[in-house]
Amino acid sequence: MPNMSLKKNPMPSQDPIERAKNFKEVALGYTEEIALDEAERCLNCKNKPCTQGCPVQINIPGFISKVKEKDYEGAYEVISQSSSLPAVCGRVCPQEAQCEKYCVRGNKGEPVGIGRLERFVADWHNANSTAAPAVPEKNGKKVAVIGSGPSGLTCAGDLAKKGYDVTVFEALHTAGGVLVYGIPEFRLPKAIVQKEVEGLKALGVKVETNVVIGKTIAVDELFTEEFGFDAVFIGSGAGLPSFMKIPGENLKGVYSANEFLTRINLMKAYKENSDTPIKKNTRVAVVGGGNVAMDAARSAKRLGAEEVYIVYRRSKDELPARKEEVEHAEEEGIIFQLLNNPVEITGDENNFVNGIKCIKMELGEPDQSGRRKPIEIPGSEYVIDCDCVIIAIGTTPNPLIKSTTEGLETNKKGCIVAEELERLLLNQSMKN
Ligand code: SF4
Repeated sequence: MPNMSLKKNPMPSQDPIERAKNFKEVALGYTEEIALDEAERCLNCKNKPCTQGCPVQINIPGFISKVKEKDYEGAYEVISQSSSLPAVCGRVCPQEAQCEKYCVRGNKGEPVGIGRLERFVADWHNANSTAAPAVPEKNGKKVAVIGSGPSGLTCAGDLAKKGYDVTVFEALHTAGGVLVYGIPEFRLPKAIVQKEVEGLKALGVKVETNVVIGKTIAVDELFTEEFGFDAVFIGSGAGLPSFMKIPGENLKGVYSANEFLTRINLMKAYKENSDTPIKKNTRVAVVGGGNVAMDAARSAKRLGAEEVYIVYRRSKDELPARKEEVEHAEEEGIIFQLLNNPVEITGDENNFVNGIKCIKMELGEPDQSGRRKPIEIPGSEYVIDCDCVIIAIGTTPNPLIKSTTEGLETNKKGCIVAEELERLLLNQSMKN
């Protein structure tokens, strides 16, 4: 008989007061007992609606059935047929907007905890399996992958499994892209990312760090005889931070979330002997409402800030961050200043930040995005005293990509126009 509980098993987590003082992982993972109980909530639906919501089409009831049988390695094999990063995806994929959104158990009650089960299986495999993966026979084709973030690693894994000779080029000194420089240790431990990268290397994927494609080597050079690649996949991510273009953004103590998180995550700025330290702040304002804003706010809290504010121009219902991340931030004492929009960052006589001036907002009619449009309330300006402002309102692709090869068209946001890429690769292969 399936477990007909309307609620999914909660994720065991570190105590909020304790965890707000450390960078250790917040979610502790299901125990075997909890995983078995949660797996029994799955109805093994024939038409697999959950799988249709999964971007890589994992056979979800297939792997959950293996969990029910306590065949955890078998469950891992099912997931691995479609995913190269199960331990990462089990932790940071927005399952509530993907597989779990389509789970029939969600029609009345909560969906099956698919992400939590995926994490359980991946962690079980990492802790218990010693078997080396079967290395596929090479097909004689070479592919260069630019960027070792989630898309680059996924592409590399999929191609390696099909027999391609894959080399991943990474600009930084560590592979993982946004998984290592952007997502904090308390959400995704770096050791987990490293383990996934090691798994790809065991499949034959080569990883070249400290190589900036477009500077060290041009894309066109990768196709020459010297390098001999047959195809190039560009997965260079969106690492260029956006700013609000309001007065005061150049003051000392204003960071982009990218810089703030990179210093903490990649350069370990919280350690005494870090080469790239971060000044200890007491009152921090983070502008934005996405996962990156939550990560920055929770990191600032862990660095010792007494008060950390999230300043967001819409209401709680419109926060783009995952619900789970918002709840974790609230539990850790982050203060949400909702329906507030910054108009100026103020500074002292030495150009250090001393406040952020905001105007209160109310929600009007829905705009083109379908969300209710925030409208300023005249005369409602006020100042939040703070000594640090972190801007987390989004990022765009690195403009370097456009200059790396001739004829690569990008759109207004700086994203590659896919038809152009196809045309370019076709021309290139015809030249060769
Ligand atoms: Fe199981 Fe939900 Fe998928 Fe059905 S939709 S197979 S209950 S996870």
